[in-house]
Amino acid sequence: MSRLREPRVPGPVPARALGGGKVLVAGPTGRVALLTEDEHAAFAGGLREPDPLRERLAALGVIPEAAEPEALARATIESGLLNWSGPVTHVVVVSARGRSMVPETAKAAVDFAFSTPRPTLFLEFVDEDGNGWPAAWFGAAYARRRAEWAGRGLALSYRSAAAPARERDEFLRGHGVAVRAALKADGAAPPAGERGAARARVTIGPGAREPEAWVDALSSAGVSGVEWVPAPELTSDPSGARRFADFAGRALSRLIDAHETSDLRDELAIGLLSGRPWEIRGVDLVETLAYAPDGTVFSSEEGWALDADRSVGIFRLGHVSTLRFADLPSQPVVPALVAALAREAQPLCASCAYRSYCLIPPSVHFRAQGSLTGRLPDSPRCAAHMALLDVVFSRLNDEKCLKALEKWGVDISRFTC
Ligand code: SF4
Repeated sequence: MSRLREPRVPGPVPARALGGGKVLVAGPTGRVALLTEDEHAAFAGGLREPDPLRERLAALGVIPEAAEPEALARATIESGLLNWSGPVTHVVVVSARGRSMVPETAKAAVDFAFSTPRPTLFLEFVDEDGNGWPAAWFGAAYARRRAEWAGRGLALSYRSAAAPARERDEFLRGHGVAVRAALKADGAAPPAGERGAARARVTIGPGAREPEAWVDALSSAGVSGVEWVPAPELTSDPSGARRFADFAGRALSRLIDAHETSDLRDELAIGLLSGRPWEIRGVDLVETLAYAPDGTVFSSEEGWALDADRSVGIFRLGHVSTLRFADLPSQPVVPALVAALAREAQPLCASCAYRSYCLIPPSVHFRAQGSLTGRLPDSPRCAAHMALLDVVFSRLNDEKCLKALEKWGVDISRFTC
């Protein structure tokens, strides 16, 4: 049985038991409060004015009828598609699974990204096999020039398993490209101080151990941001999800406890707290696109990986040389993606305390359970997602946790205890 149903607590708003006598309650705009069991029982029994607990929850916007209409409208618009101006993140896979992109295709991918109307773009070049440097080099330089010509904001990043050689590193630094180390945790932590990458993406395998030592090693290597992602073997069943969540949860706790001395941020936690998915760069098509080495455009990096690993073709959108931005909304997969993202329309999501902190991408649900929405009662993705948020929210009454979140730029005014 997954952890999904059992910790839910009946009451007037979605609530979750966090152990130690704590109950988390969540309002309609994602504001949360940590209550004792007695306080929650009183809340569930009906609080009358001028009860101080009612006033506290009303002030916070946890009681639905007391939530500000403007805040509700803002949350709906910000989390919806009404203001869609194209994906912000473009993942250009310059080498993977034995295939490499040629520079002309990288140029076409950059041109496509710049044909979308968003004022600020984020391009990540993924050099999985290490053979895609010519395309990454050309793509990064070309994108930087295009951004200057067009006066558009641009963030660039280069992800590879091996640390770039000195000349490449100089080129990347000279063009403002952040290096993201693609590391694998499937055993003990590496010795500290190995790499010079600014960020790290650590794939947690079944044999991963010593999360605290991983945190210490990354911190001493001067890495400023880390995201933990599960290896495919840990994504398909609840026990794998629990192993991943346990590793990532312990790593997060270590970071919270070490925040006074460490500049390392947990990007996974920060992403979750702003309702963002954690393992692909945004929700399929709405927030991200991915470009395969041959120029095929996919709704996300995970959509591309599903096609490459299992020949799942539903996330293919066309070829970068012929696809136009205006074509994206009329892609056959769009209605299914939009329906899958409407959490309010999913019966189990509607009563989930973490609904405001959840945008599990449809392609991620698809990898785990073969459907765009997932089967939520036994979804390993929901279980992992909730277990990680439990680590943060069960510590809302802990000064250390709030200070760490504040240091990482999280708006802690939404949380109270
Ligand atoms: S998909 Fe998200 S909102 Fe829905 S039940 Fe799972 S964690 Fe909760």
